[in-house]
Amino acid sequence: MTLTTEPSGNLTGRPVKRHCPFCGRRLSNRFWEGALRRFCRHCNLPIYENPIPAVCAVVPDDRGRLLLVRRGVEPKIGAWCLPGGFMELGETPETAALRELQEEAGLNGRIASLLGLYATPSRLYHTILLAGYLVMPEDGRPRPGDDATAVGWFDGDDLPTIAFDRHLAFIRDFQNRKGPEAQAPGR
Ligand SMILES: [Zn+2]
Repeated sequence: MTLTTEPSGNLTGRPVKRHCPFCGRRLSNRFWEGALRRFCRHCNLPIYENPIPAVCAVVPDDRGRLLLVRRGVEPKIGAWCLPGGFMELGETPETAALRELQEEAGLNGRIASLLGLYATPSRLYHTILLAGYLVMPEDGRPRPGDDATAVGWFDGDDLPTIAFDRHLAFIRDFQNRKGPEAQAPGR
């Protein structure tokens, strides 16, 4: 799939698919079901654009500190954020969150609860559907891997600048919780 930023109708300002993902022929624009969409005349199909599902994890230790990873890739390279990433085919959001935690921070964990589900804007993907989970660490030693260059535990009231507003909002959601998981995060 070739992506370009060529403006195209009301798709202006976001990456636009140039070739059909099914037959490979060039796409055109067509007004279809209430919107200007990319369209394959050969397949006679509109190419629907959907949000990309992604996950992130708020991971507290038994002292209530929070696990952050420093980004080794753009966007926001060098900034700290929650471990997380995109769901892959065949995964559940929960298994994706635990896989990303293992890949980026070297830790195994278990899902404690869903903190929230939000649509968040993205320069490259337009809209990301981001699920945030509270994850309890189970075993493993923190070490950076995959897209992370460092891993650290941070006091909740002394956090570095967080790369993404929505990640910080998940942290605040967790800190504002009054439930038993927030009271005793190390269980
Ligand atoms: Zn086609």
